Amino acid sequence: MMKHEFKAESKRLLEMMINSIYTQKEIFLRELISNASDAIDKIYYKALTDDSLVFDKDNYYIKITADKSARTLTISDTGIGMTEEDLESHLGVIAKSGSLAFKQENEAKEDHNIIGQFGVGFYSAFMVADTVTVISRALGADQAYKWESQGADGYTITPAEKATVGTEIILRIKENTEEDQYDEYLEEYRLRAIVKKYSDFIRYPIKMDVTKHRPKEEGDKEFEEYREEETINSMVPIWRKNRNELKDEDYENFYNEKRYGFDKPLKHIHINADGAVVYKAILFIPETTPFDYYTKEYEKGLELYSGGVLIMNKCGDLLPDYFSFVKGMVDSEDLSLNISREMLQHDRQLTQIAKHIKSRIKSELQSLLKDDREKYEKFYQSFGRQLKFGVYNDYGANKDTLQDLLLFYSSKERKLVSLDEYVSRMPEDQKYIYYATGESNERIEKLPQTELVADKGYEILYFTDDIDEFAIKILQKYKEKEFKSVSSGDLGIESDDEAEKNEADADENKPLFEAMQEILGGKVKAVKASKRLRSHPVCLSAEGELSIEMEKVLRAMPD
Ligand code: ADP
Ligand code: MG
Repeated sequence: MMKHEFKAESKRLLEMMINSIYTQKEIFLRELISNASDAIDKIYYKALTDDSLVFDKDNYYIKITADKSARTLTISDTGIGMTEEDLESHLGVIAKSGSLAFKQENEAKEDHNIIGQFGVGFYSAFMVADTVTVISRALGADQAYKWESQGADGYTITPAEKATVGTEIILRIKENTEEDQYDEYLEEYRLRAIVKKYSDFIRYPIKMDVTKHRPKEEGDKEFEEYREEETINSMVPIWRKNRNELKDEDYENFYNEKRYGFDKPLKHIHINADGAVVYKAILFIPETTPFDYYTKEYEKGLELYSGGVLIMNKCGDLLPDYFSFVKGMVDSEDLSLNISREMLQHDRQLTQIAKHIKSRIKSELQSLLKDDREKYEKFYQSFGRQLKFGVYNDYGANKDTLQDLLLFYSSKERKLVSLDEYVSRMPEDQKYIYYATGESNERIEKLPQTELVADKGYEILYFTDDIDEFAIKILQKYKEKEFKSVSSGDLGIESDDEAEKNEADADENKPLFEAMQEILGGKVKAVKASKRLRSHPVCLSAEGELSIEMEKVLRAMPD
């Protein structure tokens, strides 16, 4: 029997493949299942144009069989199969993709789901197997062939027996070593978990014989084991379904299944974008703050699929930091992936999707604020801080996106209000948006500084979070109205006449004020007469850009 050698460059590539392209061994199963699914797709596309072929969905499936005693794992499919030449050219030359050629030949046909394009996925089998055997019978052929290889030193092709059209890939699983465990790839639970993780939404059934238990006799307490074939993938991903077929419950189940969170999602967003960017997405706004949310450990990101196959667990590029609380997934058919699929090229497509998602989240939050205030406030309790950080970070680059989503406690309403609500009910003569800072609403209420503004009948926003005032300083204005701290020197409340009179009073009392300042020994910058006091004899006020509260925060920060 003649042994074929891999082409020289293929040899090197194979070594590289096995050792470095993939970061996790378990993905070999994803690759082999994707190939099997591609092979079934090819029959499906052929049947579209070839009347002699009937595609009866029930006859097409992928089967996984583990045999512990023989240490083999077999992945078989009822797909299009490979001829002797196919085995030679598709499996004998690394980085040659039969699927890419198929796609190019069939470009004119409707959009297809074929996943393969790099011609390397198959070789990932060598990460877990020391021998790989492929037995395949091509559609329309009577003779089957066997391709076998032990890795880099080459492969053989010989005639073989196979009763039906399709392909069988038999992996002889490596023995455990000190560093690496391979036994797990023969374990039912592990195989099931890998399929669920990466290939749950392959469009054809992935079957496996699984062990089950049943009472020996009806009502019996003794149980016996039996084996039964089960389809272990869910096939149709919920994001491919029509929104009107789905209930809230379906989304909640998906959220739990995916372990996006242990809470219930507050809201889901199902996107089916079909314009300049084509993708599907299901996004969730969680109800509660994850325990590590405001720590460095928290990692933002969405799951990224390409044509139903999981590419990345957490694609951070899809979410801006200020929406880092969003969970969910994105599926796009036309991403430019590189060969390992694990590393995504920074392409325009992805940037476009991210932009689209960002504005969608914003508009969904805005309508939540408008239509379901209670829910929005719940959301805001959990993640409002992150929005305020978002305003403050990046030198305010995102303030337009975020300013309408902010809420602050209002002295007048005694609840959270939006800036828009504040401004829309401002009296004609009110020049500024007033705010007061403090540890708590109760503390702020007692501040002498708030009295004058409140007496005027003006609404005051209470800032109890350190970030509040910093965010507002970045905003500067909202709808042309500047923000003003109730403790700032000039409150913009007194009329011109009043101002003149105040100045005269101040001149008159100058010696007194100077004496007071001296007694205070430089602890204050100046002592002035104030018209803002009602029931308190004295108050502190800030002159410059920084309020007293901000100065406190800044001073508390490590250098
Ligand atoms: P890719 O899937 O990116 O094309 P692979 O290395 O995974 O690259 O597979 C190489 C080629 O081998 C495929 O393009 C396909 O032509 C062929 N092939 C692999 N597995 C099968 C299979 N189960 N049935 C039919 N053809 C297959
Ligand atoms: Mg492939």
